[in-house]
Amino acid sequence: MSDVHINIVSKFYPAIERAGQHLAISDLKLTLKSNEFICLLGPSGCGKTTLLNIVAGLDNDYEGEIFAGLKSVLPKIGYIFQNPRLLPWRTVRENIDLVLGAQSSTAVVDSLLEVMQLTHFQHVYPERLSLGMSRRVAIIRAFAVDPDILLMDEPFVSLDAPTARQVRELLLTLWSERPHTVLFVTHDLREAIVLADRLIFLSAAPMSFISEIKVPIARAERHNESAIEAFRWQLLNDYPLIKTLL
Ligand code: ADP
Ligand code: MG
Repeated sequence: MSDVHINIVSKFYPAIERAGQHLAISDLKLTLKSNEFICLLGPSGCGKTTLLNIVAGLDNDYEGEIFAGLKSVLPKIGYIFQNPRLLPWRTVRENIDLVLGAQSSTAVVDSLLEVMQLTHFQHVYPERLSLGMSRRVAIIRAFAVDPDILLMDEPFVSLDAPTARQVRELLLTLWSERPHTVLFVTHDLREAIVLADRLIFLSAAPMSFISEIKVPIARAERHNESAIEAFRWQLLNDYPLIKTLL
């Protein structure tokens, strides 16, 4: 897979009533390395969802460019929203097959269901799933299309802590078996440290890059809560500014 280049010179939202137009993003440049897991952190309302929608190609009203590898190639996207957006009249398996269309491979879907521990629920309708299971289906659906970049917009916020931990662990298992480039938005510094190779801190509106930090904890140690907590304290201590961003 290729690196993904994001260069947003400016993103304005139109004026509402007498307020002038709103500059949401200004001069934001990011390069996502192939198969890198990046967590974006920034204050509520700073423009993170706006950025993901631009990268996803859902919003073309901006100045700048997004491309994977060669300049002319738009990245193929998998998008996991806060709400899993499953079609209620389709089973789990049908919800996954739908995004694959003609490319649907029974073996690939079988193995994704197995890793996410949903094999026994594949013929169930979404209303019978718990919140955590619905998130797991949304993750499978996004991985199934084998995207250049997986976008995840605070996907675990509505889950209780033990369920969020379980889904995070399953996500990491899947990601280590099938590495992909991930852009994951979260408010939760601890979650970001568990998941990311690199943390990117973003400013309040107009959103722009502040700084980035590589997470030095080995993947095998990411379940070690005291290592995660120690690094979180170190970050908050070394960079007090972070407290104002979360
Ligand atoms: P975040 O995801 O970081 O919380 P958003 O990207 O949702 O932030 O929003 C960034 C800013 O852009 C906010 O001030 C928000 O009010 C504004 N905004 C978002 N969507 C629209 C829209 N469709 N029209 C006008 N302003 C918007
Ligand atoms: Mg948002």
